[in-house]
Amino acid sequence: MAGKTYVVLMGAPGAGKGTQAKLLEEALSLPQVSTGDLFRSNLKENTELGQLARRYMDAGELVPDEVTVGMVRERLSRPDCATGAILDGFPRTTAQAEALDSLLAEFKGQIGVVPLIDVPAEVLIERLMKRGEIEGRADDNEETIRTRMRVYQEQTAPLLDYYSAKGLLTKVNGEQTVEAVNQDLTAVIKKAA
Ligand code: AMP
Repeated sequence: MAGKTYVVLMGAPGAGKGTQAKLLEEALSLPQVSTGDLFRSNLKENTELGQLARRYMDAGELVPDEVTVGMVRERLSRPDCATGAILDGFPRTTAQAEALDSLLAEFKGQIGVVPLIDVPAEVLIERLMKRGEIEGRADDNEETIRTRMRVYQEQTAPLLDYYSAKGLLTKVNGEQTVEAVNQDLTAVIKKAA
């Protein structure tokens, strides 16, 4: 991929975006930029941003767009993103997708492909409940999981049409082993390059 290329990894909560983004980092030599991880590290460090984000995250709601976009702009400006990035968990609203388009125009970069890790909703809820037991993530409890799924359907799923209309969206079957999903994703990304 020439110039700055960004891979936008899409998928509902629990689809495996974080796991796959980490695997792709090395294969593509691009850093994973996860807004969820960035917010969680701000929470841990108790920064002003973390304090602001906490109540949204605990409730399973989205942190306001301007806060999220500001954080992403700062992250994508860092030297390790000089050739692009793998975006995980961003954009999550149409306003964020439009903000990303303007950011990339400014950074003279482009979205290479938008892979969707496709997993049915019932499977996702079960996976998230399990992750909650294993990793103890505060937002992996049943009530918050249901809110996050609803927020995904209402605010994030419309982005699939947004990227599909641009010819960027490619579905990958997320109901396979981690390795098989990784293989499919790598193939989709290489094909787009
Ligand atoms: P994640 O780890 O991607 O599931 O994100 C965990 C939580 O962080 C979400 O439930 C939101 O509260 C917040 N968050 C992560 N990414 C975004 C985003 N792009 N826009 C708004 N809030 C976000």
